[in-house]
Amino acid sequence: MKILLANPRGFCAGVDRAIDVVELALQIYDTQLYVKHAIVHNDHVVQRLEEKGVTFVEHVDEVPTGGRVVFSAHGSPPSDYAKAKELGLDVIDATCPLVTKVHLEARRYAKEGYTIILVGHRGHVEMRGTMGEALEQTHLVESAAEVDALQLPSDTKIAVLTQTTLAVDDTRETLAEIKKVFPQAVLPPASDICYATTNRQAAVKKLAAQCELIIVVGSKSSSNTNRLVDVAQAQGATAHRVNSVQEIDPAWLQDVQTVGVTSGASAPDDLVQEVVRWLQQHGGDEPTLVTAVDEQVWFDLPSDIKQAAADHGVDTDIVTKHRIGTNQQMKV
Ligand code: SF4
Repeated sequence: MKILLANPRGFCAGVDRAIDVVELALQIYDTQLYVKHAIVHNDHVVQRLEEKGVTFVEHVDEVPTGGRVVFSAHGSPPSDYAKAKELGLDVIDATCPLVTKVHLEARRYAKEGYTIILVGHRGHVEMRGTMGEALEQTHLVESAAEVDALQLPSDTKIAVLTQTTLAVDDTRETLAEIKKVFPQAVLPPASDICYATTNRQAAVKKLAAQCELIIVVGSKSSSNTNRLVDVAQAQGATAHRVNSVQEIDPAWLQDVQTVGVTSGASAPDDLVQEVVRWLQQHGGDEPTLVTAVDEQVWFDLPSDIKQAAADHGVDTDIVTKHRIGTNQQMKV
């Protein structure tokens, strides 16, 4: 059985940065560290940080007055920052810069009097943050069908924004419907669907063209992981999401000549390596890397944590070196 391994896959620059922020904060400060929401949507990452002493909370008011809290990579509404200020919290902001970009666009459009159509998943924490920038002026739609149900006067000034981790193809359909119903709508820049989402979907498409079975490593709560499964299935492959190797059903391998492995942007690569080893123990060859894009992206740390690290004599170059290692991806 052939094993094909997607490149790129796994940690994106926003996830790397968010985890590094928490790791650095743990090194720098000796007081209890809180993180609002799962820092990234991966159960293993959260569990590993909990073992290092981090307390995860869902709401700002669960952090004791005067405490220190990291805001997760998915972004937070302005009301969370206001609440934190009221409670005298020290906020370390690990919001991915690409999510921040969408927030800034929402803020600008709202100020200019636009009604915003936000394409995304209802209930996803990123949407809560983006909507919070202009709650009264924003309509969330999940699909092309929901666009048709919008009751807006025909001359409404409309701007469209998207969740960063949607399937590129699904967005295309919804955006086309918006343009059909509201020709005056200003569509978002293509870059609002983040590079990592786009690249991982391109890689899984390449895998799906050559594999009967695709295993996607990532947590159920991870939007971009679920989209990878959708994209593989849309290409005609059988695709399963697993949190870790323990969730693989050996029956999936029946009659499979070629199996593909990839992972969502918040899944640590050691979990992928475990899956590959398991496949090899079940008749798989040495894995072959299938590259869609040579991805070399990383984001600088937030300036406040960099300054705090410098003040405490903690070397942030170590972080940079580790990230370069991550970007080189698989050691096949
Ligand atoms: Fe940022 Fe994209 Fe990663 Fe989300 S998937 S954290 S938007 S880089």
